[in-house]
Amino acid sequence: MSDKILIVEDEVRIVRTLRLYLEQAGFAVTAVHTGSEAIPAFRQERPSLVLLDLNLPGQDGLDVCRSLRRLGDVPIIMLTARTEEMDRLIGLELGADDYISKPFSPREVVARVRAVLRRTQGQLNHNQTLQAGVLQIDLAAYRAWAAGRLLDLTQTEFELLATLMRHKGHVMSRAQLLEAVQGVAFEELERAIDQHIKNVRRKLKEAVGDVAIINTIYGVGYRLDEVELPHA
Ligand code: CA
Repeated sequence: MSDKILIVEDEVRIVRTLRLYLEQAGFAVTAVHTGSEAIPAFRQERPSLVLLDLNLPGQDGLDVCRSLRRLGDVPIIMLTARTEEMDRLIGLELGADDYISKPFSPREVVARVRAVLRRTQGQLNHNQTLQAGVLQIDLAAYRAWAAGRLLDLTQTEFELLATLMRHKGHVMSRAQLLEAVQGVAFEELERAIDQHIKNVRRKLKEAVGDVAIINTIYGVGYRLDEVELPHA
């Protein structure tokens, strides 16, 4: 199966060239032209790597990079015409895996994509499952289990549970959870998190009974604790 590459780039000419070269190299390619389309496209396509332009209309590449990082370990290569060392540092600090300055040769991009995939794919396989007590998540397959029972979660509920599991033992505020789920936090939407948490709890209860896996920390947020089931 060929690796899928998501290109986030507003310059149509660059997208066309990259698509051509990447497809010739055997990759499947999806492209979006604005930052705000990036996260929905990422969720839908589950690409193996993201080629992300730094300078995008609307939500810029740095915001998109931060949001992608919160969602997982997908390798990110930043593309940028800004050549200052500072930008390079920011890109790498944000968790981008590599950085290519414009103008670039498309052959170079293909070579860097291959190199980053080779380097990250070993690690990635280890990071694609999360475990916390009775809970298990397969990020690649988008599936979650409680005590071996598959949970029927919506996309938002899945992202919430995955976020809490990544930070197990730590309290996450509603704003942090909302940001992780939507890529952006709005105060007026924070209450919506409570309803999603309620749904996840109900589904966990159906699977493993009434155990305190997701705990409310009043005035702060939620914390997921590792819970083992008592032996029957
Ligand atoms: Ca651009």
